[in-house]
Amino acid sequence: MSNPEMLRALKAIVGTNWCLDTPADLMAYSYDATPLYQHVPDAVVVPGTVEEVAAVMKVAEEHRIPIVPRGSGTNLSAGTVPTSGGLVVGLNRLNQVKEIDQENMTATFEPGVVTAKFHQQVEAVGLFYPPDPGSMTISTLGGNIAECAGGLRGLKYGVTKDYIIGLQAVLADGRILQIGGKNAKDVAGYDLVKLFVGSEGTLGLVTEATARLIPLPETRRTALAMFTDLTGAARSVSRIIAARIIPATLEFLDNATIRVVEDYARIGLNTEAGALLLMQQDGTEAVSERDIARMAAICKEEGAFEVRLAQDPVEEAALMSARRAALSALARKKPTTILEDATVPRKHLAEMVEQINRIARKYSVEICTFGHAGDGNLHPTCMTDERDREEIHRVEQAFEEIFDAALRLGGTITGEHGVGEAKAGFLEWRVGSTGIELMKGIKAVFDPHHLLNPGKLFARENRRRVVVRS
Ligand SMILES: Cc1cc2nc3c(=O)[nH]c(=O)nc-3n(C[C@H](O)[C@H](O)[C@H](O)COP(=O)(O)OP(=O)(O)OC[C@H]3O[C@@H](n4cnc5c(N)ncnc54)[C@H](O)[C@@H]3O)c2cc1C
Repeated sequence: MSNPEMLRALKAIVGTNWCLDTPADLMAYSYDATPLYQHVPDAVVVPGTVEEVAAVMKVAEEHRIPIVPRGSGTNLSAGTVPTSGGLVVGLNRLNQVKEIDQENMTATFEPGVVTAKFHQQVEAVGLFYPPDPGSMTISTLGGNIAECAGGLRGLKYGVTKDYIIGLQAVLADGRILQIGGKNAKDVAGYDLVKLFVGSEGTLGLVTEATARLIPLPETRRTALAMFTDLTGAARSVSRIIAARIIPATLEFLDNATIRVVEDYARIGLNTEAGALLLMQQDGTEAVSERDIARMAAICKEEGAFEVRLAQDPVEEAALMSARRAALSALARKKPTTILEDATVPRKHLAEMVEQINRIARKYSVEICTFGHAGDGNLHPTCMTDERDREEIHRVEQAFEEIFDAALRLGGTITGEHGVGEAKAGFLEWRVGSTGIELMKGIKAVFDPHHLLNPGKLFARENRRRVVVRS
């Protein structure tokens, strides 16, 4: 680090062991799960208390050095890549569930708690925290809050913002903000809690949060349906919702993804299937049984040539792995895997997948699509090689056109992965110049010196929306 005085100050706060600045340490924090982005930080600090976080922020502000908060680094929008250098602040040592309040049905926890471990703790007392990102065995609740993470249960249960009702955050100048709490109702002033959820580390560092919990569903049933074509799957999704069934999970894989998953996981998927729907319903035994049977019947009526109903937890896990394994399976194919999350209103699902396939052909790039069918949240995933600059250019053009297509269908550039640095250039396409102006105004109030996660959300340079359609 170029500033030894600052490094001394940081070591004095967190202790020498928790201030990392060897080349190997800096390299380890120079990237996250997003391909194509890398930059080494000046140093990494891992504070052990909220007071230490506040003291680190004061030092950073005094020296005007950027701060990049980090959980497990599983985000897919370059949200934790320190592209302006500065300090990466790891929140992983703050990893305690402080309270599970069964009477109020809330839990209060620190940001470094791993999502799946939190699920286990609350489920052990019959409570349920639904947000379940595919990365949940590694991701932290702090990262989930900062990205407003979704997951496979989003259609029925919503996403992170639907559960976070209170939080503590350290602001850019080191002040500690305490907002919300355990109240089921609270309309005192602007909703700063919701403002923080999805703020991607640009407004402050979340050091504690309170989530509302719901009763753990008694039981669940899982089924998988295979279709000859995409249209049958898409029509089934529309009919399931029209039948007033809100499934706990309604996921989709296209043929290209099915082939790759089967090659990887060997779960007996028919690789000739044009599309696959993975369905789950939870609730009482009667409700789960009734709804899964109704969904299976709808799929058959819409041309599913095979519907499998899981008979026990082992079979259920096998069926779920068709979806959970998708990214790992695709990642084996080529050195670089770029996963996006263009999202459209549910009824445009089939049209959007067709557009993605057309665009992939136009730019001669390999894109498989899977995602949360019930939410219209698609993950077009490109297998490529970042060393091939010419191909990467075509991949970028293809994704630009995919975002444009999603917006034209009334959709958005990201349904759950966040804007980060990777999609900052496209934010104005979605929210307009007035939207950007207001968001920048909010950012300036919280972070007048632009130290918190610079380059994220707001583009250094906006992308001009000039898309040539064939
Ligand atoms: C295989 C795989 C599957 C995935 N599946 C899903 C999915 O189904 N749904 C989904 O929504 N996402 C998914 N993701 C994306 C990612 O896992 C989520 O965005 C997750 O919430 C990130 O958590 P993290 O702890 O890794 O955060 P990080 O990646 O470390 O950080 C994410 C963002 O949060 C900020 N941040 C982290 N901690 C704090 C804090 N305490 N205070 C303030 N800001 C903070 C960071 O600066 C960054 O901007 C997936 C990723 C992978 C690799």
